[in-house]
Amino acid sequence: MKKHICLLEGDGIGPEIIAQGVAAVSEAAARCGHELTFEKAIIGGAAVNAAGEPLPARTVEKCRQADAVFLGAVGGPEWDAVSPDKRPEKGLLGIRKALGLYANLRPALLMPELAGACLLKPETAAAGIDLVVVRELTGDIYFGEPRGISTRGGMRAGVNTMVYTEEEIRRIARTAFELARLRRRRVCSVDKSNVLETSRLWREVVIEEHRNYGDVELSHLYVDNAAMQLVRAPSQFDVILTGNLFGDILSDEAAAVTGSLGMLPSASVGVSGPGLFEPVHGSAPDIAGQDKANPLAAILSGAMLLRLGLGMPEAADLVEKAARAALAKGYRTADIMETGKSLLGCAAMGQKIVENIRGAC
Ligand code: NAD
Repeated sequence: MKKHICLLEGDGIGPEIIAQGVAAVSEAAARCGHELTFEKAIIGGAAVNAAGEPLPARTVEKCRQADAVFLGAVGGPEWDAVSPDKRPEKGLLGIRKALGLYANLRPALLMPELAGACLLKPETAAAGIDLVVVRELTGDIYFGEPRGISTRGGMRAGVNTMVYTEEEIRRIARTAFELARLRRRRVCSVDKSNVLETSRLWREVVIEEHRNYGDVELSHLYVDNAAMQLVRAPSQFDVILTGNLFGDILSDEAAAVTGSLGMLPSASVGVSGPGLFEPVHGSAPDIAGQDKANPLAAILSGAMLLRLGLGMPEAADLVEKAARAALAKGYRTADIMETGKSLLGCAAMGQKIVENIRGAC
């Protein structure tokens, strides 16, 4: 197969980790007889500096022409003072919207090799963590109108609007049920229906849609309880279905309990067109340019890109096995370092994974 990938390196550690992701993905695809071509486009702070806006039209065009989009991270203190419409994060929200990416899939997997890095009690970690947060991406309080800061009764007031339509809920519920069928057939829908009308509708529609998926078990949790259960007993979860705001927070929590934010990949998909594959973490300005970043989240996002974005499951398996083999051999970046292991920088860790991919074939 011949496929084309648009690279959005972004800011901070973005270029460093994407370089390692591209190396692993290219090697694995080539080993499986596929040909990949890559083209860079600008987004985030880098685009604000170069073009005066976080998501230039040319970037959207290049993404639409690609078979998949591979993104690093956006943002950083350099752009903290720019106007809200020019913030780097606007680029990210904008590209998800432009590509119609309504579903964000965020696996949180505790690899046995990294059990020591897990923040939970050993007996909790021993029960295992293998879940996917399915987060709705295009609706909710991030996009609802009205929004803004205005003056009310002589003082400033901030307003955002939480809104979901029935069809938006139905669509993401279907994604979660379909995914559960490929896993352990359990969906836990997370909302705040004891307080929010948006959540009441969410729960009603999820229950309606579940009638088409009798083979999948459905449960419900309020978001505060879900946050607690994720640290108390994460092994109970298979697929967590939730909205944009709650999913943003819960997926980072799920990520953190497995060890490091530097390990977690994600995929955002729509009805058709290219999907977007990116690590869960941000641009980590505190370690940018120092060759300290963990490239595994980006490399594992590359594996999701191969599997879900390009239909190359064998190449995806190669990348995932090579990443686990590097951990099994004791190689660690600083964020997951343990006594007795070998500390590597970002580039050297990426190189070990490429070598493992070569060695596997
Ligand atoms: P962050 O994820 O960038 O960093 C949080 C902490 O985790 C930092 O200590 C960082 O060094 C560490 N970390 C993150 N990724 C790592 C990796 N691959 N290897 C090793 N350590 C890693 O979150 P933040 O500090 O809250 O945000 C920094 C910037 O990133 C902000 O501008 C924020 O808006 C942006 N951000 C972007 C995205 C995205 O592009 N998807 C997501 C979250 C935050």
